[in-house]
Amino acid sequence: MEASILRGNELPIQMNETFQWNDKACIEECAGLCCKDRNYLMVSFHDILMILKSSYAKRIGIQSTCELFEDEIPLICIKKDSNFEIVIPYIVFWPIGAKMGILPEYAPSNMCPFLKPLRMVYAFHQEKTPSTAHPLAMGCILKDHKPDICKFSPIGSLRGMETGILSFCHVKPNEVCPACNSRDKVELKTYLNSLRGVNVGPKSLFHEVAMRHYRRVKSGNDQSNFNQILQKIYNIDRLLLDNNFDVKYRPSYKQLISILYKAANGKFDLWESFMNHLSKGNIDLFVHDEDNRECLNY
Ligand code: SF4
Ligand code: SF4
Repeated sequence: MEASILRGNELPIQMNETFQWNDKACIEECAGLCCKDRNYLMVSFHDILMILKSSYAKRIGIQSTCELFEDEIPLICIKKDSNFEIVIPYIVFWPIGAKMGILPEYAPSNMCPFLKPLRMVYAFHQEKTPSTAHPLAMGCILKDHKPDICKFSPIGSLRGMETGILSFCHVKPNEVCPACNSRDKVELKTYLNSLRGVNVGPKSLFHEVAMRHYRRVKSGNDQSNFNQILQKIYNIDRLLLDNNFDVKYRPSYKQLISILYKAANGKFDLWESFMNHLSKGNIDLFVHDEDNRECLNY
């Protein structure tokens, strides 16, 4: 699935290889070139939950997945990937004029809704802006809650849809990228170890789900039921609120992945159990039932 994020200028890179990089330049000397001039940014279900946990989401009144997906100008939308027949969430880079009906794909220069002037980012997180920062520098207001794909940049992580093998590539985001044009070099292994809260391990729960799904697609199975459930789980709080539950009853990430894992395999018993608990008003029993997580135990 990750292959579809590639732009054609990526170079495979091994753990012991180095690339030109200066972290400080990325933070202090860039106008956020990675976060502009595209229409959509592919994110993961885990990223959605991280955005919800961010202090910025709280500040702007986003408390549930509904507010991310259902606003008139939504921050996140869902698209179906035609290569792998799977629905995927994307941050939408809405242009000025979105309220007048201009879609991101028809606008020349969009930027991520989380890109802000660097001074605003530091002020929001109650930190002092470095004195060496360029006055026009921009940064991500989500900070440690930004999507994994952004944390990895300029490294792309690729997980094979058939083999599951994890590999990495280097993608120079822009010819004038100040961080990649620096003389400093960093070893890939060191760089990955420095990333906070990113899964750089060989296993990814969601990828296991996507692989199962793709295997069945290739065998000719109709996976539309799975995709419908996946879409509902991306906007999990809509299900809760429609059944009069507060978002604090949201099942854990592992539980939701377990539901998806079974559904990707054509088994819907866990999904039906979840929906039954929702409609009967006893979601507590589902949320606290350890058996609901046993199909994926790493
Ligand atoms: S990676 Fe380069 S282009 Fe992207 S935000 Fe950092 S400095 Fe700017
Ligand atoms: S989420 Fe943050 S780092 Fe990622 S594109 Fe948006 S502003 Fe840039």
